[in-house]
Amino acid sequence: QQVTGSGPHVAVLVFPFGTHAAPLLTITRRLASAAPDTLFSFFSTAQSNAYLFSTSHHNTTLPNIKAYNVSDGAPEGYVFVGEPLEDVELFMTVAQENFRKGILEVAVAETERKLSCLVTDAFLWFGKDLAEENGVPWVPFFVSGACPLSSHVYTDTIRQNFGVGGILFGNLESIFSRMVHRMGQVLPEAVAVFINSFEELDPVVTSDMKSKLKKFLNVGPLTLSTPPAPAVPDSYGCLTWLDKQKPATVAYISFGSVATPPPNELVALAEALEASRVPFIWSLKDKSKVHLPNGFLDRPNGILVPWAPQIDVLAHGAVGVFISHGGYNSMQESMSSGVPMIVRPFFGDHGLNGRMVEHVWEIGVIVEGGIFTKKCVTSCLDLVLAQEKGKKMRENLKALKELAHRAVGPEGSSTKNFKALLDFVCS
Ligand code: UDP
Repeated sequence: QQVTGSGPHVAVLVFPFGTHAAPLLTITRRLASAAPDTLFSFFSTAQSNAYLFSTSHHNTTLPNIKAYNVSDGAPEGYVFVGEPLEDVELFMTVAQENFRKGILEVAVAETERKLSCLVTDAFLWFGKDLAEENGVPWVPFFVSGACPLSSHVYTDTIRQNFGVGGILFGNLESIFSRMVHRMGQVLPEAVAVFINSFEELDPVVTSDMKSKLKKFLNVGPLTLSTPPAPAVPDSYGCLTWLDKQKPATVAYISFGSVATPPPNELVALAEALEASRVPFIWSLKDKSKVHLPNGFLDRPNGILVPWAPQIDVLAHGAVGVFISHGGYNSMQESMSSGVPMIVRPFFGDHGLNGRMVEHVWEIGVIVEGGIFTKKCVTSCLDLVLAQEKGKKMRENLKALKELAHRAVGPEGSSTKNFKALLDFVCS
């Protein structure tokens, strides 16, 4: 494999937590296929790279993508105490310096190719400084939608006009808070910001973000434009099980890679599934199973799996509802498959995504009070699967799905935006 020599050299810097890395790799792969002369040095932690490049995920490697590991920031022998965001804070404290060394001392030195562009997860706000130091453009990828992006770009305006007391909670000086605050301040200076969405989904916010950012490029939904190749294997038989179910009857349940409901809510959810007799596939980590009610695991019309091939599950005609945390990727995937959602938000953009789902697009509901109770889940399942309102949600989804397909079609907005992105990154 010839990676030295001339041609553009793009460094891609990953935020290796939650589901941030996978969509950035998906876009990198698409760019790399479209620009075979461009070399992509892809930086993430060893753990994240091992997962992303393992044979069970994305196993078709492209010769012009080269993965590099950077330190996760944990000092030698460090023992995690289990604080929330502990891993993120350790990583972010040394990230700028680690990435700087990785790019210059390793990737550029090894390949003898001068850096030509810096693509980063938008959370890595210091990408702007690293790009400036290297005299190259900075092109950040924001992993969520136009509305959450807008809330970051307007953070200072919101704080000035409404104060912090009534809107925000948590420690504004934490590493995480300062990271997203700083991101909102510097994104307007990037040559282009891209997201995994399509313009027609949020026309008003999209047009406003176009006026705030130098270039705002919606290049999604990736599920439709760049499906995973090959698909995640069906190791636990979810798809064969779904083949035996009736159309649009099954509840698929997953809370993404980070969140798990507290034990009392796991019980409430299990009891609601039991009471409503709705067949289900529940993606649940093994360690959480101890909290489920006695006998629940033996229930014949549902399966629990530690990880599901989510995109294929949602695309299966038997799935009628997705009980989700409102994570951005999950929401996009559900929408692309036309499946209505019941959202139980946890943190970050989940609440805002849930609000969009319920009130703007009308393709699902948020659970009452933001928590699972047996009564509420039972009535949400009935609403989505059996009531007129659920039917209306499916109609709204059908319309959005058509718009999404058009956006990634030959003349679509996302296709055009992807070409613009390719020009920014690979020329
Ligand atoms: N996912 C999956 N199988 C599972 C659970 C999740 O493949 O059993 C994938 C899902 O398709 C999505 C991602 O994990 O792409 C979750 O991303 P999201 O942004 O929704 O949540 P996060 O992991 O960032 O909290």
